[in-house]
Amino acid sequence: MSDSYRAASDRYSKIPYERCGRSGLKLPRLSLGLWHNFGGVDAFENGRGMCRAAFDMGITHFDLANNYGPPPGSAEETFGKIMDLDLGPHRDELVISTKAGYHMWDGPYGEWGSRKYLLSSLDQSLERMGLEYVDIFYSHRPDPDTPLEETMGALATAVHGGKALYAGVSNYPADMTREAHAILEEMGIPLLIHQPKYNLLERWVEPELLPALTELGIGCIPFSPLAQGQLTPRYLKSIPADSRAARESGFLQLAEVEANQSKIVALAAIAEQRGQTLAQMALTWVLRQPAVTTVLIGASSVAQIEENVACAASAGFSDEELKAIDVACA
Ligand code: NDP
Repeated sequence: MSDSYRAASDRYSKIPYERCGRSGLKLPRLSLGLWHNFGGVDAFENGRGMCRAAFDMGITHFDLANNYGPPPGSAEETFGKIMDLDLGPHRDELVISTKAGYHMWDGPYGEWGSRKYLLSSLDQSLERMGLEYVDIFYSHRPDPDTPLEETMGALATAVHGGKALYAGVSNYPADMTREAHAILEEMGIPLLIHQPKYNLLERWVEPELLPALTELGIGCIPFSPLAQGQLTPRYLKSIPADSRAARESGFLQLAEVEANQSKIVALAAIAEQRGQTLAQMALTWVLRQPAVTTVLIGASSVAQIEENVACAASAGFSDEELKAIDVACA
């Protein structure tokens, strides 16, 4: 790959940008996550190519976490190298996020939601990425044993200290999100965004969380909108050797893939009638929710990102299509 990267001059004409809740920050309708395929075990040039191509397509938001890899931390190192080589001159055009919550180092201070863990983890993430600040710092999961005031206080400290511009939560249920919002508000920090899992096959956010986010003016960035690749034709015939389900370090279980097979076949038929690929329909379906700011996709190739970005221009759903989709998923 050529070392001298010049960003595409038409990059802001390809994807719409949406305001994140009631904040001043706009996010592209598709964002790229570095959970899989950017670790130390993966081919660096492939990950680098995806980040460059994504930015050329108008994807300004890159999502990381302290533990992404494998090994944990290596996705942030990969991203740091890509910043060094390619994207660094565009720092002010980028929204870079990281998180802390899952296990990162041994002992009592290496996971969950204490102030001790969150703030030292953020320092480590900044070091690995070679950044002075991240745009969004998340509490990655709720901690049942740490007072929410302490976890939110750590996010507020990160923002007040300039190491993060905004605060977010991930995997928090609706009631805790309301509490987190109230606590942060008292500290003068808005809760910018929530990152929950949401896709055609997993809809827990619909009854309570999405209405709460809309009411409170919090943005929403659903992760795994393709159910880790299941909502694509990837597994319709077999388990490809280069797929997530075939990887030792992957989080997608074969049993899950097999159990969803008949739903995927039915959904693929509906997508075809709409003139979309299954991946595009699955993303359009998540983006149809007014509460959703951006969908957070993963990818293993530039071609996948290109295909997915094309959904940003697609038509909404008729009532009949939505009903047929619900039947296929039942
Ligand atoms: P997706 O559901 O979008 O799955 C991505 C995978 O789907 C890709 O790796 C690829 O699989 C496959 N894929 C993508 N596009 C296509 C296509 N057009 N055709 C065929 N296959 C396709 O998202 P992820 O599960 O990767 O999650 C996205 C991001 O969300 C993560 O990177 C991370 O940033 C974040 N996340 C956050 C969590 C949290 O707790 N906050 C938890 C999990 C994720 P393959 O690699 O097999 O080719």
